[in-house]
Amino acid sequence: MRCAILADIHGNLAAFQAVLEDLHRRGAVDELWCLGDVVGYGPHPGECIRLLRQHAHLCVAGNHDWAAVGNIDTSYFNPEAAAACQWTAEHLTPDDIDYLRDLPLTLRQGDFTLVHGSPREPIWEYILSTWSAQENFACFDTRFCLIGHSHAPLFFELDQGGLCQSRQLPGDLSLKEEKRLIINCGSVGQPRDGDPRASYAILDTEESIIYHYRIDYDISLTQQGMREAGLPPRLIDRLSLGW
Ligand code: ZN
Repeated sequence: MRCAILADIHGNLAAFQAVLEDLHRRGAVDELWCLGDVVGYGPHPGECIRLLRQHAHLCVAGNHDWAAVGNIDTSYFNPEAAAACQWTAEHLTPDDIDYLRDLPLTLRQGDFTLVHGSPREPIWEYILSTWSAQENFACFDTRFCLIGHSHAPLFFELDQGGLCQSRQLPGDLSLKEEKRLIINCGSVGQPRDGDPRASYAILDTEESIIYHYRIDYDISLTQQGMREAGLPPRLIDRLSLGW
């Protein structure tokens, strides 16, 4: 089976389209696996939901998805994220709202657990340190867990001696060793690792490899849409800088 792993699209249609074009150039995939935050920040939330839904896919809920439909409140959001969330909420159709409201917190597919934040706290927790990763390895029972939320392409490995280490996500990550992994393939629509290109991956379960890609897209197109929508300037600027 071949699956695209996408996370944190964040209403950035130009980035999402560029990723899908790259994906189609690389051959067919069976499903898109989306790790939440389809909306929030970007100017095309409904368009991104509908484009995702045109494909065979799985999707879990992210904090921005649920905040936009009132499943959770925005009191933990910074003022700019809350303003973008409010704008997003006003630009969803009833069908978009039903879709986001019904997204599950966690999914399990074979050897993989899918969550937005962490298996322990699927909506809110960021896994960025080895100590939080180590605690989270006890919170899922598949070999692998795919996460989003931090927008940073990295992975954590737990060896059989219980040692947990963190590394940058390489261009190809082998799943053949007998280690358990928590893997973040980065963000499609708002990368935060200093590289503004869209980030995504393809999982090939027969080869047992995750291929990680960075894709150029027309950032100015998304920024223009954000300006027209009146979204906060800092959110517009950060897209060019990749933070
Ligand atoms: Zn996000």
